[in-house]
Amino acid sequence: MSSPLAIAIPSIQVPKHPVWPHLGPEEHGALKARIKALLAERDAVLVAHYYTDGDLQELAEETGGYVADSLEMARFGSESPASTLVVCGVRFMGETAKILNPEKRVLMPDLAATCSLDESCPADLFGAFCDQHPDHVVVVYANTSAAVKARADWVVTSSIALPVVEHLHAQGRPILWAPDKHLGHYVERVTGAEMLLWPGACVVHEEFKGFALDRVRRLHPQAAVLVHPESPDEVVDQADVVGSTTQLIKAVMDMPNPEFIVATDEGIFWKMHQLAPGKKLIAAPTAGTGATCESCAHCPWMAMNALQNLEQALIHGAPEIQIDPAIRERARLPIQRMLDFARQRGIGGRKT
Ligand code: SF4
Repeated sequence: MSSPLAIAIPSIQVPKHPVWPHLGPEEHGALKARIKALLAERDAVLVAHYYTDGDLQELAEETGGYVADSLEMARFGSESPASTLVVCGVRFMGETAKILNPEKRVLMPDLAATCSLDESCPADLFGAFCDQHPDHVVVVYANTSAAVKARADWVVTSSIALPVVEHLHAQGRPILWAPDKHLGHYVERVTGAEMLLWPGACVVHEEFKGFALDRVRRLHPQAAVLVHPESPDEVVDQADVVGSTTQLIKAVMDMPNPEFIVATDEGIFWKMHQLAPGKKLIAAPTAGTGATCESCAHCPWMAMNALQNLEQALIHGAPEIQIDPAIRERARLPIQRMLDFARQRGIGGRKT
């Protein structure tokens, strides 16, 4: 199996988690009511990722919006008749919504909400690397900029990475994969495909520790271990289920275990509690020797989404996602290829 490439990727500046002012029940209710009125006035719909604050997920569901993983967020944005999409998540999710819906206005609470994977893969560096490997089919994870997607043959999310790579591997095509080395390595191990791996990583999942997880498992012998494949091998190797956010939520609903140790962003607990209220959820450990705990199982960029700046985005109609039309058109091709593949194979669709 391949090792991640020795490419000098940019060092990532991980922001501190923002501290949002506490709202009392009355203030909280009034703010939500104002946002609901603004959504209706602006013909806007809210699409939130599972890793965002529970308040935002709840509001999306209360107002006819949607809470999902990045594949389903992209699909929902295209299906909704609303003229404005408000994406609560990170920037590549807003860009994907704009790429698929160029006629719609796409707002986000904060465009500084990015992703360590996206940051690790600048378009110029990536483009030069692709130029050196013209025989490889280029598969990029959704967590990339529009400009990187514009260099790709395929875009995949964690829900669909395995079947797409199996499909390409069956055709005997060598694969260049970016940017998550852990997900790429997991896909390689499962499919047997030979892949060149860009050396990026998610700052949240990379901090889960195998030796600490082993200790927690011994304390909770009845617990099933659920792991997102952006995690390191020593964590993935202890999993009962490895999967995307949607697949992990489904596991909590379907498996008989009373307890689950969950190795992904703890924002997902809101949806897991909602759909499986009787189950006990335990956050997989991030602490231990060598842990920097910059994220502590919650993405600092996802945490930049809050009711307060959501209201401001709706009031001002900004910040708005803008993408160069030539990049947008080129980036649409590999995303559409993924969506067509998902539809043909019956993968995904609105279930939660
Ligand atoms: S959790 Fe990781 S992969 Fe997801 S947006 Fe944050 S840094 Fe990126």
